[in-house]
Amino acid sequence: MIKSRRYVLITSVVGLLAVVVLLFIFQRLAFQSLLDHETKSNITLTKVFSNTIWPKYSLFIQRTSQIPKADLPSHYIVKRLHEDVIKQMAGSSVLKVKIYDLNGLTVFSTDPKQIGEYKSENSGFLSAKNGVPASGISIRDRFDAFEGVIADRNLVSSYIPIRAREGAPVEAVFEVYSDVTDLAAKLERFQWEISGWVVGTLSLLYVILFVVVRRADITIQRQEKVRRANEAKIHYQAYYDSLTDLPNRVSFGERLGEAIKRAKRAERMLGVLYIDIDEFKLVNDSFGHATGDGVLRGVAQRLRSCIRETDMLFRTGGDEFTVIIEGLECVGSPGALATRIIDATTDPMLVNEHELIATVSIGIAVFPKDDVTVEKLVKDADTAMHRAKEVGRNQYQYYSPSMNDQASERLALEIGLKQALRNNEFLLYYQPRVAADSEDILAVEALLRWEHPQWGLVQPNAFIPLLERMGLINAVGKWVLRAACRQVKLWHETGFTGLRVSVNISPRQFRTGLLVDSVKDALSRSKLDPAYLELELTEGVFVDNIDDTATTMSELKALGVSISIDDFGTGYSSLKYLKLLPIDYLKIDRSFVSDLAENEKDAAIIKSIAALAHSLKIKLVAEGVEDIKQAEFLRSHDCHELQGFLFSTPVPPQDIPIVLSKQKIRRAV
Ligand code: C2E
Ligand code: MG
Ligand code: MG
Repeated sequence: MIKSRRYVLITSVVGLLAVVVLLFIFQRLAFQSLLDHETKSNITLTKVFSNTIWPKYSLFIQRTSQIPKADLPSHYIVKRLHEDVIKQMAGSSVLKVKIYDLNGLTVFSTDPKQIGEYKSENSGFLSAKNGVPASGISIRDRFDAFEGVIADRNLVSSYIPIRAREGAPVEAVFEVYSDVTDLAAKLERFQWEISGWVVGTLSLLYVILFVVVRRADITIQRQEKVRRANEAKIHYQAYYDSLTDLPNRVSFGERLGEAIKRAKRAERMLGVLYIDIDEFKLVNDSFGHATGDGVLRGVAQRLRSCIRETDMLFRTGGDEFTVIIEGLECVGSPGALATRIIDATTDPMLVNEHELIATVSIGIAVFPKDDVTVEKLVKDADTAMHRAKEVGRNQYQYYSPSMNDQASERLALEIGLKQALRNNEFLLYYQPRVAADSEDILAVEALLRWEHPQWGLVQPNAFIPLLERMGLINAVGKWVLRAACRQVKLWHETGFTGLRVSVNISPRQFRTGLLVDSVKDALSRSKLDPAYLELELTEGVFVDNIDDTATTMSELKALGVSISIDDFGTGYSSLKYLKLLPIDYLKIDRSFVSDLAENEKDAAIIKSIAALAHSLKIKLVAEGVEDIKQAEFLRSHDCHELQGFLFSTPVPPQDIPIVLSKQKIRRAV
């Protein structure tokens, strides 16, 4: 029962008690007024008695002390007085009359047994003797009245002074007993009725009040419940991530602050792990958000299974998780946890019928070794995580101060890249691809460069991963396609007909679903025959759903362009896609070519790739050819085209006509 109902009960009980007290007071007042009324009528009666009967007996009464008490009841004057009194009182409510002399002796009583008794100590008698009438009310079980013995009566007895006339001295005291039984009974009945009504009405009111309050209580309780639930919900939303049920970034900030304070007090170390899923955006772009959510849940589950009970795990952003490890034994402990996490996340997971591997990169910062404030520690761990990404993902890195320089370098690159396209700072270099047998230039590979106003020419490996991460690869890729097609068309028009151009396509650009439109756009703007455009895809595009990949590739093929697989042998291990997809060229990765002379295994790999391409009727291109021996080996293994510094480095577009002209001359000679 809540407080308001208790209050109502208490006030109801107090109210009822107050009413009972009031009723009691009312009863006393009612009886007092009954008494007053009866006293008045007894005084009137006494006056009548004084005027009519008293003068006859006054003298006798004053002398009764001279008569022996035992003779008094039978005295003839007393008997006469008795008859006179009976006559006068007949028909009234008076039941008994007594007369006392001033000594308190009962000189007369309608009950003769009482004649001769003394009442000199009686307060009523004393009051009347002093001239003041006194009355009292009493209940008698048994009473000797004129008519005999009566029972259960309410009586008013009045002691009244008897005077010869108004103002004369008191001569005797008259006691009158009048019967008020009926009146008292009426009064009592009336009182019970009022009490009944009052208590009944009040009880009804209280019951109604109690019901109303109870209802109000229930409503308040219900509202309170809803409020508490809302509060809990708001708290959950503020401090938890609903997807993984892990505490969120806000919780992380608060908990880390508290943990640092504890670590300071206890002079102990504390580790922060910053965990980011590798290429998570790719998962979202390729498989949709439902699968992305599934991956996040799966990773969260694995992280949970790796940490100890005392470690704290949070989801602090889209694909970011953090762990706080308190009470570090040594600086190496977070590394051990990071290894466990990496091992746990490299196992494939089944999400929406896709078998996926969601690896993570982890940055570690240690308090107080690296930094001592919440913000800096988090920043350090974040920097270390980015470093882990840069050096190849699926690994962990401890923070080191030199990483800050790299981080600010990356930031400067990002800022520059945002405006590079608008400022026309991108340009294409071209590297010839020659026929293995005749060394005639058959094609050129378009290679992106960034001419930065301060830093000069920036190589693509330094900024293409950033473009991908920043989501700019599609816009830049579209520009590359347009520029390359326009350039080759120009060379065709200036007489170098038949020259093909190959353009590199990043896996992320391939997956956006915009590639086919970009290619169409570049071809229609430049009016280049699609037969002269080749798209270099890497094995990364086959990580995806093979059906989607096949659809996009068929659409590209339908446009009339060729497709090559760049850096072949370094990526995806399944060869199934080679027979399923429309592939025209395989470009052997330059790592196999460069070590050819020293490493027999590389030679064996190239031989196998050559045999595979030959049997599948796919043309073979080798890149990174730097010396004649390599060229000889590749030529002897049916490589169709060669590309590398042996023939030409990538050159700006204005140099290509010179190289081509030289070739023409050589051919003519
Ligand atoms: P890639 O497609 O494998 O390009 C070949 C890379 O090997 C080029 O580096 C080229 O300069 C280098 N190379 C050629 N011959 C030799 C050689 O004999 N020895 C050595 N050591 N290197 C040689 P580059 O131009 O720095 O390009 C690097 C990578 O950047 C490219 O690898 C490609 O994956 C990417 N890339 C370049 N341009 C673009 C582009 O427009 N779009 C996309 N998505 N990626 C591009
Ligand atoms: Mg390439
Ligand atoms: Mg390559």
